[in-house]
Amino acid sequence: MTFDAEHPDRAWCPPGNIERILGSLAQADVRATFFVQGRWAEAQPAAAKRIYEEGHLVGHHSHYHARMPLLHDEGLRSDVLEAQAVIERTTGADPRPWFRCPFGAGSDDPRVLGVLGELGYRNVHWHVELDDWETWRTGTAIAEDAIRGVEAHGDGAVVLLHTWPGGTGDAIQPMIEGLRARSASFVSVAELEVLP
Ligand SMILES: [Zn+2]
Repeated sequence: MTFDAEHPDRAWCPPGNIERILGSLAQADVRATFFVQGRWAEAQPAAAKRIYEEGHLVGHHSHYHARMPLLHDEGLRSDVLEAQAVIERTTGADPRPWFRCPFGAGSDDPRVLGVLGELGYRNVHWHVELDDWETWRTGTAIAEDAIRGVEAHGDGAVVLLHTWPGGTGDAIQPMIEGLRARSASFVSVAELEVLP
């Protein structure tokens, strides 16, 4: 399970959603990967700190959540380094080498990947996406689609989730239960041999 921890992309999102997600993960004893946006961590330092304190892997999700291919090399470097400093200060973790391009934009762009590489990062894409950013998506639907998507992919499936949609908050517990019932185990992206 991978979560993009970032400012909500919608006008209204339930307050306390990331705390709820962290609570569900802790209760189920599941460790996940969180790609943290720098500007979000500045605004939510307590939640950012909790991610690392509770044993999750901390990655980098840019500072401004811009589409990386729109930035020139120097802009890319400053965005990444600015967020890196904030992520380190708030979470206590060095996010390197884990990076996720906002919107996945740039994940196939050699220039973007080259600059990320110079800075010690590699992009981590995903296999299963659930449209969990759509407010009409219920927790039940997200959980069912996640289980179906992971089964279809097989071993090493990387699932994309977001920290702010209420449906995602509702989905965590049934998703974990459903996947465990199918003998899945949960690891951070650092433990996978092959990354998307
Ligand atoms: Zn994002």
